[in-house]
Amino acid sequence: MKQSVAILGATGSIGQSTLKILTEHADDYQVYALTGQHRMAELVDLCVQFQPKVVGIPTGQFNQFKTIASEKKLSPLPEIVFDESGLVAIASHPDVDIVMAAIVGAAGLLPTLSAVKSGKRVLLANKEALVMSGDLMLSEAKKTGALLLPVDSEHNAIFQCLPESYFSHRHENKQPQLGVSQILLTASGGPFLNLDQTQLEHVTPAQACKHPNWSMGQKISVDSATLMNKGLELIEACHLFSISEHFVTVVIHPQSIIHSMVQYIDGSTLAQMGNPDMCTPIAHALAWPERISTSVQALNLFDVQKLDFYPPDHEKFPALNLAREAMRVGGTAPTILNASNEIAVQAFLDGRIKFTQITDLVEQMLLQVASHIADSIETVLQVDRQVRECAMQWVEKHGVAV
Ligand code: NDP
Ligand code: MG
Repeated sequence: MKQSVAILGATGSIGQSTLKILTEHADDYQVYALTGQHRMAELVDLCVQFQPKVVGIPTGQFNQFKTIASEKKLSPLPEIVFDESGLVAIASHPDVDIVMAAIVGAAGLLPTLSAVKSGKRVLLANKEALVMSGDLMLSEAKKTGALLLPVDSEHNAIFQCLPESYFSHRHENKQPQLGVSQILLTASGGPFLNLDQTQLEHVTPAQACKHPNWSMGQKISVDSATLMNKGLELIEACHLFSISEHFVTVVIHPQSIIHSMVQYIDGSTLAQMGNPDMCTPIAHALAWPERISTSVQALNLFDVQKLDFYPPDHEKFPALNLAREAMRVGGTAPTILNASNEIAVQAFLDGRIKFTQITDLVEQMLLQVASHIADSIETVLQVDRQVRECAMQWVEKHGVAV
C-alpha cells in the first residue's frame, strides 16, 4: 500500500526536493497534504500536480489562494485548513504516515511536535524546532514511538555512519557510546570563508544568500554564511544522538563532499560522501531502513580529486561558540539563541543591520535574557516571544531605520 505523506513547507527548497523524490516513486508514496505561507501561486501549481486532499495556508492568504486556484482551474479543490492549528491537525491526521517537517524556523515547532506526539515517521529538516524543544520533543518521541529521522545532510550522514544498535539506545537518556569516540560535523564555511573581518562588515544579503555548494532558502543560507547554521546543527546533533557538545568537533570542508563523520575508539573514521544534493538525505530518511533511487549523480572521485579540511575561525565567526555555550548552559538558552538569530537574520535581510551585527545581537540576548529550565513547551514558547521582543528593540536601537 502507498504511504501517505504530508509536507509542511512544501513551497520551500526542501519541500520541492521532497516532491521530486515522491514523483520518482509515485508507486510507493502519495501526497496527503501540502502547506505554504507566502508563495500561493507555487502552492496552487503543486496542488494541480499532486492533488493533495488537504492544504494548509494562513487565513490571510485564503482569497489569493482561491483566486489563483480558479485561474489555474484547480479541481477538485482540496480541503483547506488554516494557520498553526491547521498545520498541527495535518501533522497528526490519522491518514498521514509520514510528515516532512520543512517549515523554516520556530513556526515549525508545534506542527512538528504534533507529528511526533502522533507517533508518525517524522523527517526532520526544521532543525530550529529541535534546537528549541530538545529533550521535550525527544521524550514525546519516546512515549509515542515516533521515528525522528534526520534530513539535515550532516545528521543524516552521522546517522548512516553510526552503528544501528545506537538507535535502540537513543531514548535511554545516557550516552550510548558503543565505541564511538567523536562526531566530526562538517561545514562548507559558507560564501564568506575567505573574507577578512573588515570585508565581512560590508557584505550584502544577496551575497550571503549565494551559497557556494547548496541551493537553499534565504534563512538557512544566511545561517550558513555566519556559521550559525553549524551552531544550530551542533545542538541538533547533541539531541538527536544523545551526546554532549564536547563529543562534536566542527571541521570546515569547503567542497561539501563528506557530509560528516563518526570516529571510533579503534582508530576508524567513517564518512558519508556524495554530491551535495538534499535529495539524497531526504530519500534516505523517507525509505530507511530500505534504500530508494534518486536522480543524484554518483560521486566521481576522479572529478573531485581533492578534499580540504580546516579548523573554524572563531574570531571571524563567533556563532559557533555562542551555540556551543548555549548548549552547555542548556534549558532555554538554545531557544534564546534561536529566537534572537531569527530576528537578526530577518533584520539583516531587510537591510536594517550589518552582517556582523547578527552575532552581536545573539550574543547580547544570551547575556541579557536569563535562561531557565525548559520544563514545558509553553515555557519555551514564552521565552521565544520574550526574546523576539527584546531582539526587535535591539534592532530599533542599533540598526538602520527603514
Ligand atoms: P525555505 O525558505 O525554502 O522554505 C520554508 C518553507 O516554510 C516554505 O514552504 C515557506 O512557505 C514555509 N514557511 C515560512 N514561514 C512559515 C510560517 N511562519 N508558517 C508556516 N510555514 C512557513 O527553507 P528551506 O526549505 O531551505 O528550509 C526549511 C527547513 O529545512 C529549515 O529549518 C532549514 O534549516 C532546514 N534545512 C534546509 C536545507 C536546505 O538545503 N534547504 C538543508 C538542511 C536543513 P512559503 O515559501 O510559501 O512562504
Ligand atoms: Mg546541514
